[in-house]
Amino acid sequence: MNRIEKIILLLEEVYPNARLKLNYKNPLQLLIASILAAQCTDERVNKVTADLFNKYTAVKDFAEAKNEELEKDIKPTGFFRNKAKNIINACKLIIEQHNGEVPESKEKLLLLPGVADKTANMISCNAFSIASGIVVDTHVKRIAYRLDLSKNTNPVKIEKDLINMVPRNKWISFPHLVAFHGRNICKARKPKCFQCSIKDLCYSTDKITCKVTAGSHAYVQ
Ligand code: SF4
Repeated sequence: MNRIEKIILLLEEVYPNARLKLNYKNPLQLLIASILAAQCTDERVNKVTADLFNKYTAVKDFAEAKNEELEKDIKPTGFFRNKAKNIINACKLIIEQHNGEVPESKEKLLLLPGVADKTANMISCNAFSIASGIVVDTHVKRIAYRLDLSKNTNPVKIEKDLINMVPRNKWISFPHLVAFHGRNICKARKPKCFQCSIKDLCYSTDKITCKVTAGSHAYVQ
């Protein structure tokens, strides 16, 4: 078993229920939630979509929404003007070009307004179980760097690095495991290295203020 396989195995043991934190019941809801999640926490998106998905139940509802009204409905997620415009235009395009169904492939998803690489992967992987790529969110970006899985800072390049080492059957679950680890242990500001299940596989001592003490990492302020 190589290093990345060991890391994945250990994370799977600690986070057996790791999954996407955004709430959704169908591909359309995941598309909307993913657009809203840009620069916003999953928790806040879930609060907003709890009401939003009761009010707008079909792709037509979003496509025909009044701009100002949708903006008001999604305002707490930030950047609401752009997000409302993208949601309306994406849904119009889905009706015009995809018979009202959210497309499955990453290539087609990328042509929708408001959908970039991360969102396309998120929908294709999670709504359709197609391992089209690896979602690179803020947790994956940070932890891939700390674990020396990628030295890049551009998410598309990080994804390419990860694709070359993460087994394809783990492309969908890998970001969930890493995100859970990022929220619980490998936090942005104060990683709890001393509690980390993968500390023996982590080479980050020179990158963040960690030092190795008695065989384990300890965070140093
Ligand atoms: S040892 Fe520290 S930096 Fe490395 S993965 Fe664990 S928490 Fe993150």
